[in-house]
Amino acid sequence: MKNIAILGSTGSIGTQALDVVRSHAEELYISVLAANSNDELLEEQIEEFSPELAVLSDEAAYQRLKSRFKHKSTQLAGGRQAFIDCAAFDDVDIVLTSMMGFAGLEPTLKAISSGKNIALANKETLVVAGELVIKRAAEHDVKILPVDSEHGAFFQCLQGEDRKAIKKLLLTASGGPFRGKKRDELKDVTVEQVLSHPIWNMGQKITVDSATLVNKGLEVIEAKWLYGVDYDQIQVVVHPQSIVHSMIEFCDNSIIAQLASTDMRLPIQYALTYPTRMSSTVESLNFWKIQSLTFEKPDIDTFKGLKFAYEAGRIGGTAPCIFNAANEAAVGAFLKGKIKFLDIYNVIEETMSRREVIQNPSLPILIAEDAAARSIAEKLCDK
Ligand code: MG
Repeated sequence: MKNIAILGSTGSIGTQALDVVRSHAEELYISVLAANSNDELLEEQIEEFSPELAVLSDEAAYQRLKSRFKHKSTQLAGGRQAFIDCAAFDDVDIVLTSMMGFAGLEPTLKAISSGKNIALANKETLVVAGELVIKRAAEHDVKILPVDSEHGAFFQCLQGEDRKAIKKLLLTASGGPFRGKKRDELKDVTVEQVLSHPIWNMGQKITVDSATLVNKGLEVIEAKWLYGVDYDQIQVVVHPQSIVHSMIEFCDNSIIAQLASTDMRLPIQYALTYPTRMSSTVESLNFWKIQSLTFEKPDIDTFKGLKFAYEAGRIGGTAPCIFNAANEAAVGAFLKGKIKFLDIYNVIEETMSRREVIQNPSLPILIAEDAAARSIAEKLCDK
């Protein structure tokens, strides 16, 4: 029996994780459910899973739920600090970090410092503070189990292998909804077009990131920290069918790949049940239907998100934090209709050029840098 805390239980990954828990109720138990502001869905989840603790980060949402709360077996808490603290809840073995963006960093560090294993879905945590997070995880003997499908694939390919034998991580990318398009064709794309991803059904922010290839860039930085490789050893391969979830080339030029249907419940389940492999409701692959798998080089001159991420990653220090903050602000503004799709790249580039990079940043420096970069990016979006 594993006791689980889900931070971000009402989002796309959170709700799919609860699907996994439903199908393995004898092995997986929900101790903590925490969400940002969706009090109605959280209440339904409390009803079904009776966690010991439930938290709403948003104060107004917490007050709404509190005023009608009837579940005596669940303790209810509210506010940002309660959201961070619940990551250290006593009765928890593994914390699934499926909240969105930079806001995931503090609760993840708190969980690590309390010795909880992490099922990591919040990639921004490793992007902005990879060095700090990996070091702290080693100090507390905490496992970081990747939920991102590509990193979950690397993790599976590495079972029984020596990390020192890695030659190259081949990180696959679907290419997003605009694969093959050039800048001219992207000038006036609408929010709706961006949000209709051909393969994966995900939350709004990550779907925009997938269209700009910023998501793949964030994943490059995530992979660097998870597997301790150099940026030169990470190669992005566009694979539109999204059947090969990633591959590793070893020092003998042999490549091991992980293949499965495009369903996030599989990497979520492997992270939660590791090292045990369990049955799954995910559809079995039918090769007579698939017939062919194709691979292409990414177009980084059009989709500059990937280029910016490699640059920020190689500079190191606070550069990835600035890159991430600028992107979060720009995506927020794009979703509100304040800026156009290609402006996301301009906002990131301009914000990065305006901040001095600080090497070996502490948590307070990262928090300050995130706020400063976000404020610059927001002002650029308001122009
Ligand atoms: Mg991914």
